[in-house]
Amino acid sequence: MPHAKAKPVGPALGSLIGQPYPPVRESVDDRRSALDLINLNEVKGCTLCRELAAYRTQTVFGVGNVKPRVVFFGEAPGADEDKQGEPFVGRAGQLLNKIIEACTWKRQEVYILNTLKCRPPDNRPPEPHELANCRGYWERQLEILQPEYIVCLGTHAAQSLLETGESIGRLRSKFFTYRGSKAIATYHPSYLLRTPDAKKLVWDDMQMLLKDMGIELPKKA
Ligand code: URA
Repeated sequence: MPHAKAKPVGPALGSLIGQPYPPVRESVDDRRSALDLINLNEVKGCTLCRELAAYRTQTVFGVGNVKPRVVFFGEAPGADEDKQGEPFVGRAGQLLNKIIEACTWKRQEVYILNTLKCRPPDNRPPEPHELANCRGYWERQLEILQPEYIVCLGTHAAQSLLETGESIGRLRSKFFTYRGSKAIATYHPSYLLRTPDAKKLVWDDMQMLLKDMGIELPKKA
């Protein structure tokens, strides 16, 4: 099947990494309606990736607090997310919820989105043209959300946001800047399901983040 040619969506032309965010939409209502417009008018009917558009049950845009301190940026919807229309609701999502709660937050306090809005067939990794097709959507989501911190979950999210080919092992445990946000990269919850020993490394990364945010964890009784 021929692939839809990768072309930027919306105003994203070239790298945005070094550019500041444009002026903030302050009110929650303004942010919600700006996000809804992108979702309803563009993402829901998107057919840029023909294979994904034919395969999906529905698109999965993003969920959570539209004025978040922290955004979690994942890879792509899986079967559960495709069915329910919400990111991270399957097994990996349950683990992400545990990570969020261990950081003293509730899921509703953060915002969660993915590099791709459609489920790749059989959960295969996103292809470069698919990442390029979807890029303008998440770039504009982040532009509206203007989070203080972005946590990239796994290789595809980290490499897309930071525009690098470096491995997650080399990207983790340090801070980067993405426009006006501080960004970190850590292992994807699906990887943790397969490699439980890596949970400790993710917790190290989250503790680095919490320290920078000035958040103290309650002492264990
Ligand atoms: N994995 C992801 O990267 N995103 C989801 O929404 C679910 C699983």
